[in-house]
Amino acid sequence: MEIHSLASGSSGNAYIIAHQGRALLLDAGLSGKRTFAAMAAVGVNPGSVTAILITHEHNDHIAGAGIISRRLGIPLYMTAGTWQGAKGALGKLAEDKIHLINARDRFYLNDIEVTAMPVFHDSQEPVNYIFDTGRHKAVILTDTGCVTEEMLAVMANCDAMVLETNHDSEMLQRGPYPWHLKKRVASDRGHLSNLQAARVLARLVARGKITQAYLGHLSAVNNSREAAIAAVSKYLVAQGMASEPVLDSLTALPRHSPGPVLQVK
Ligand SMILES: [Zn+2]
Ligand SMILES: [Zn+2]
Repeated sequence: MEIHSLASGSSGNAYIIAHQGRALLLDAGLSGKRTFAAMAAVGVNPGSVTAILITHEHNDHIAGAGIISRRLGIPLYMTAGTWQGAKGALGKLAEDKIHLINARDRFYLNDIEVTAMPVFHDSQEPVNYIFDTGRHKAVILTDTGCVTEEMLAVMANCDAMVLETNHDSEMLQRGPYPWHLKKRVASDRGHLSNLQAARVLARLVARGKITQAYLGHLSAVNNSREAAIAAVSKYLVAQGMASEPVLDSLTALPRHSPGPVLQVK
């Protein structure tokens, strides 16, 4: 299984989960044109994409979803709450292209067991997804203000992850955002800070076999790639995890362009 980030951040999120010649598109926050250009750049054939999974209805996750579904003739998977929030923005879609799921469903797509996991975010019924081929397991954890024990249990034994490091708490507090936006981002229905993300990763290292983590959904204003990597590394080292392979894998995904492939192994 390979994960390609096509873009990661508040101006658009889209990931490709490729496995045995077929692919899933996880979120579609770029325009159709930009999505297809990014797929070409990472060598993914649009014809191999069999479905689009949506995490929640914010525009940075759905902007291209309707167009791409129509262009490729592929279904969209999302919770009923997300559909309620998103349908006005998706354009006309045939009924058989809308697959509504429950927030804890497990289902198979492209020989991958996909598990939906409820997350905590200021949207109607947000979920993240875990991808398990039977041999390898990965999660893309973004757009959640907190991580619960239940979520840690669902993510246990992942080999690899994309982990939201949205903001550095001090940069957010000192930064230019208006007070209500600072409060929203930092709340437990906002986004994970670098330190929150580091704690999640340390818990997953302690209880499982995770060896790779790419950092995503970084704020342009309240974080930097260097600050995110430094914060996570520092925390893991302080937890006695200096020799864990995951430390060497830490890579901050670019906001506007495809990142390096994450080969889940
Ligand atoms: Zn987002
Ligand atoms: Zn969001």
